[in-house]
Amino acid sequence: MREGTGPVYIGVFDMFKIGVGPSSSHTMGPMLASGLFLDLLRDSEVSARSVKCYLRGSLAFTGRGHATDRAVALGLLGFRPDTVDINKADAALGELKATRMLQVPGLGSLKFCPGEDVVFDTEELEGGHPNQLRFEALGDTPDVLVGQTYFSIGGGFVHTRAELDRLSAGEAREDEVPFGFRNASELLAMVEDSQLSIAQIMRENEVALRSPKAVDADLAAIWAEMDACISRGLAEHGTLAGGLGLRRRAPDIYRRLQTSLANDKRLPFASNDWLTVYAMAVNEENAAGGRIVTAPTNGAAGVVPAVLRFFLSHCLEDEKTYAEEAELVREFLLTAGAIGGLIKRNASISGAEAGCQGEVGTASAMAAAGLCAVLGGTPWQIENAAEIALEHHLGMTCDPVAGLVQVPCIERNGFGAIKAVAAASLALHGDGTHFMPLDNCIEAMRQTGLEMNSKYRETALGGLAVNVPNC
Ligand code: SF4
Repeated sequence: MREGTGPVYIGVFDMFKIGVGPSSSHTMGPMLASGLFLDLLRDSEVSARSVKCYLRGSLAFTGRGHATDRAVALGLLGFRPDTVDINKADAALGELKATRMLQVPGLGSLKFCPGEDVVFDTEELEGGHPNQLRFEALGDTPDVLVGQTYFSIGGGFVHTRAELDRLSAGEAREDEVPFGFRNASELLAMVEDSQLSIAQIMRENEVALRSPKAVDADLAAIWAEMDACISRGLAEHGTLAGGLGLRRRAPDIYRRLQTSLANDKRLPFASNDWLTVYAMAVNEENAAGGRIVTAPTNGAAGVVPAVLRFFLSHCLEDEKTYAEEAELVREFLLTAGAIGGLIKRNASISGAEAGCQGEVGTASAMAAAGLCAVLGGTPWQIENAAEIALEHHLGMTCDPVAGLVQVPCIERNGFGAIKAVAAASLALHGDGTHFMPLDNCIEAMRQTGLEMNSKYRETALGGLAVNVPNC
């Protein structure tokens, strides 16, 4: 097993970030990277006249379908994924296309044409991570004044080469947390020593980084965004953009579930249908570029909210007070966050690096752990639930048709949610002892991702992406 060398803590708010669709690595990350490059330019004090961005690796192959060029332009216009107002962003983008000029605070006017100055470069690729953006600022001559490559590693995380190297070396994050576990076995040992639950350990870590009030408020805000996203997706009709002509299905399925289908004895799968429709609602919103919470990515953003909404709306026997329900939400999200952090730290949550096992597989493991926790599972049962869910996603490729986060992504989130519930249920039938530890399963996922042909890692060059029917 691969051992990390230092206690890198990945917190619950690293796993759950509010942003926009359709992709954390191909939309949110690039938008953030644009802002980081402008900060770098301000610090460098050069007199730049224009900016260019080269998208490389998976960003070059599937960036059009993921609206990466739009995200880069919006980032340069000063928008951030967590606060962007889509209507204002569209208006600013329209103006930029007309003027081909950015007006950047502290930098003045910079020439930038979204259609020409974002280059989909499928030839060049540095080592590191396969999602790369190279920004260059030029003056009056073709010489590059300032250049920087950023790696968008999934879940909205963006790093420079130096930061990536520090992470690979397992260097500790500056913020100190009381429980700096590196893997599941260390986490379980800490549980045993401290007599705290996994959620309580995560909470102790989070309150070392921000006030207890802020932790509670931010977790509540995360759930409110997730829940609102489900509700929007259940109400919105229409055809998704991108050219596949896919209609949103969640609203019609939801309407049927509310009426006859749920009571139709020929279809005794109402639980599966509810889970699927909640997950699809989120991922249809994501595909439409709507407001989304990474969980742990945008492509896999439907699984955790679907399972949590299913639990709250369909599994509670007694009516809960607002405070009781809020406590259950916190326990679910903190536990799920712990598992997501372990997988990110020891393998990957990026489809471009590990295939869909790293996205929907991770989301399913997170949701299974969260559900197991709120159903009263012990920490050992929770670890078992996460392992079962992840194990049965191993080998799953990332092959989005036309580079859009639609096929297979939307339905796949429904199946990730169903597997999460099955995994939690199976774990709760045992006492937590089991054959395959979660750490070993995470390592298996890492190795499988490394050996997966790049055609199946978010390049849209293999699998379903090249077996599209002629319509
Ligand atoms: S196939 Fe999976 S990993 Fe790939 S874009 Fe879709 S959800 Fe993300």
